[in-house]
Amino acid sequence: MNPLRGSNPARPLSMGGLVLMAYAVSGYLGLVMHSHVDRHITLIWLPTGIAVTALLRWGRHFWPAITGGAMLINMGMGLPFFVAGGIAAGNTLGPLLTAWILRRAGFHQDFGYQKDVLLFTVSAMIGMIVTASNGVTILWLSGQIPSHEYVQAWLTWWMGDTLGVLIVAPLLLTLSKSSLKRLSDSSVESALFILIFWGVNWLIFFSPFMATLGFVPVLLVIWAALRHGITGASLTVLANAAMASWGTATGHGPFHLMGALDQIILTGYILTHAMVSLVVTALHAENRRTAREVNEAYQRLRKIASRLPGMVYQFRQRADGSYCLPYASEAIRDLFRIEPEQAQKHADLVFSAVHPEDVDRVQRSIRRSAEELSMWREEFRVRYDDGEERWLFGNSMPERDAQGEVLWHGFVTDITLQKEVQAELLKAKEQAESANRAKSEFLAVMSHEIRTPMNVVLGMGDLLLDTVLNDEQKMYLNRLQNAGNNLLELIDQILDLSRIESGQMVLKEESIDVAQLFKETVSLLEVLASGKGLRLEVMVEESTPVWVLGDRLRLRQVVFNLLGNAVKFTEQGSVKLRCRVTTEDPDHLHLTVEDTGIGIPANHLEAIFNAFTQVDSSMTRQYGGVGLGLSICRHLVDRMGGTIKVVSNPSLGSVFHIRLPLRVVEAPAATPVIRSPVAVDAPEQQILLVEDTEENRVLMRTFLEMTPHHLTVAQDGEEAVRLVRERSFDLVFMDVQMPVMDGYTATRQIRRWERETGRRPLFIVALTAHALDGEEQRSQEAGCNLYLSKPIKKKRLLEVIQERIGQADPAQKVREDRPQWEQTDGCA
Ligand code: ADP
Repeated sequence: MNPLRGSNPARPLSMGGLVLMAYAVSGYLGLVMHSHVDRHITLIWLPTGIAVTALLRWGRHFWPAITGGAMLINMGMGLPFFVAGGIAAGNTLGPLLTAWILRRAGFHQDFGYQKDVLLFTVSAMIGMIVTASNGVTILWLSGQIPSHEYVQAWLTWWMGDTLGVLIVAPLLLTLSKSSLKRLSDSSVESALFILIFWGVNWLIFFSPFMATLGFVPVLLVIWAALRHGITGASLTVLANAAMASWGTATGHGPFHLMGALDQIILTGYILTHAMVSLVVTALHAENRRTAREVNEAYQRLRKIASRLPGMVYQFRQRADGSYCLPYASEAIRDLFRIEPEQAQKHADLVFSAVHPEDVDRVQRSIRRSAEELSMWREEFRVRYDDGEERWLFGNSMPERDAQGEVLWHGFVTDITLQKEVQAELLKAKEQAESANRAKSEFLAVMSHEIRTPMNVVLGMGDLLLDTVLNDEQKMYLNRLQNAGNNLLELIDQILDLSRIESGQMVLKEESIDVAQLFKETVSLLEVLASGKGLRLEVMVEESTPVWVLGDRLRLRQVVFNLLGNAVKFTEQGSVKLRCRVTTEDPDHLHLTVEDTGIGIPANHLEAIFNAFTQVDSSMTRQYGGVGLGLSICRHLVDRMGGTIKVVSNPSLGSVFHIRLPLRVVEAPAATPVIRSPVAVDAPEQQILLVEDTEENRVLMRTFLEMTPHHLTVAQDGEEAVRLVRERSFDLVFMDVQMPVMDGYTATRQIRRWERETGRRPLFIVALTAHALDGEEQRSQEAGCNLYLSKPIKKKRLLEVIQERIGQADPAQKVREDRPQWEQTDGCA
């Protein structure tokens, strides 16, 4: 605080008076102890210390007090006024310069840093050059000292002033109530100290025999510095200086024997004490500060570590392979039920808390981490004495030191809750999967149960259409057939969706003739489109490769669905299917299905891809459908790695865009044989039908009525095996699900019999009402050549018989290739 700026104007004045008096009195004391060199120059000029202190503590405005004090002394010494004034000016300027340098350099007044000690010493020396040069020159000019004593006088003046600053200023700057209290607190120690001090100094400077003890006072300075800081040390130095000066001045002690050098040696002695006191105090303060900072940092880390949701630790593997835990945060108590101090001494306690089934694994992974110096990560259980178990997760990074020891830094945290949630999730996932499986199985069974009677209904309807009917009857029957077909379509779509969602649908990778596929697909809708007066176009642009890799059936299903919708929702205009590969996107196939129909409102463009979602539910009545087609399309396109989106304008129509990854392939070696049309006058075939349902038997018999083929019927697999052994057949239609012996078992027995007897393999066609993926594989594994899904159409049945007749090698396998949706296309 600057007292000149205080609220009470009397205060700075009285402070100034105090400084003036202190300056004058200390100057007088200095003169009392003056050397024999010159009566105007003292050994230690204490007032400079007071001057520097006042300027540093309260500011440069105290200079008049200093000048006044100096004038008082100089005049008191009998110097002429101008000489006294000139010297007083120098006495003021030197301390002003020292204080200015210290303030500019950011000096800390507690002498707590070595750099401050250095700064203080150097600035005192510089400031006192001004004072000494000014004072000695004025004395010389005024004839107070002869020329030949100029240098020695300057040196003595300069050293005396510098010592004054070095001894007095640290004492006054650090003098405070607390520093004095520290001195008085340890009164016994202080009393002992004073006793030793006086004893030693008396022995050195006032007894004739113990001058060799001259080194002991410096030890007392160190004692004072370490125990009482800069105040105690400065007081000791001051007292030492006083004793030494007094002894020497009165012709005692070791220094007066040195003759002309005694002054310099005495000054060096005091300077040494002053410097030791300052340096030791600064070093000690620095050490204490460092220790305090380290302790604070440690406490801070401890607090942070104790707030962490887990334990942080250091773990060491010694060179002999044993372990220790140099540090473990307090959470070790909670996680391992071990006290941190205990764990530090006995790292094995940690392992004994680990679950017996996990401890080997944990130790192995630690050893591996040490060998490879790789991150250690482990989940393990701990078991407490009360039987409770918890899951922990540990993670730490090892490093190897020069002694070959490995030190890990890491953390361990409790993951019991996470593990429980994981287990719950796993259980929920398994339950969901099993529910999904149950749903798929239920759908498969349901579809089987519905398809079997539907086979009869639609088949009988087919037969009825071949009979003579009047127009009204024909109309009723057509409606009946349509409704039946719609029902089958719905079942197929639900099955598809269920298969996709349960992840059972596996896409095939086969060569597809793109143009051929799209032409075929479009042709399926031609009748419907032309019935509505629509133009149906397909454009496969030149950029499209001929053969690509993909799942032919599923691609056709997607395109058929989009084309079907386009035709369904367009009353006039056209429907166009376009396929191309663009130069900007050469790795993808771009398909668009464009119509001029009713369009889709913007707010429905995304929703229509959700299951059971239509723009308007009244559409079901008008256009049919239940809102599953696009959902299936999106799933299928997703699975193919592509994207599907729609752009639409309700007054202009819609465009569906599909972008599929393009994988071009070479043309396959054998392209499919184009089938010959169905001929009823084909050579007679011996056909065995294995079927347990009476209606289906009647249906098949009726389908074959007009053909030259001969049909034998078996009611179950056992009868079929017997008949095959007894008689000769060209073709077997084998139902899969039958009582007594199912179709696949019967097929396996027939194949075994053929192998054993060396017979030519029969052509066996499995008839199944199951529509799940994997049925084809099951039929193949059993040894069937082909499988047909019920309901079977007359046309398809005759086609298969025709194919069989046309095949030179009956062992060649032809697979069923009709997708489910095609069965409902009404083309039979
Ligand atoms: P569905 O046609 O069986 O109802 P989809 O999932 O195929 O089911 O189609 C969902 C809905 O999207 C349709 O009901 C119709 O509202 C709308 N939609 C699909 N394609 C078109 C189209 N080309 N033009 C107009 N609306 C369409």
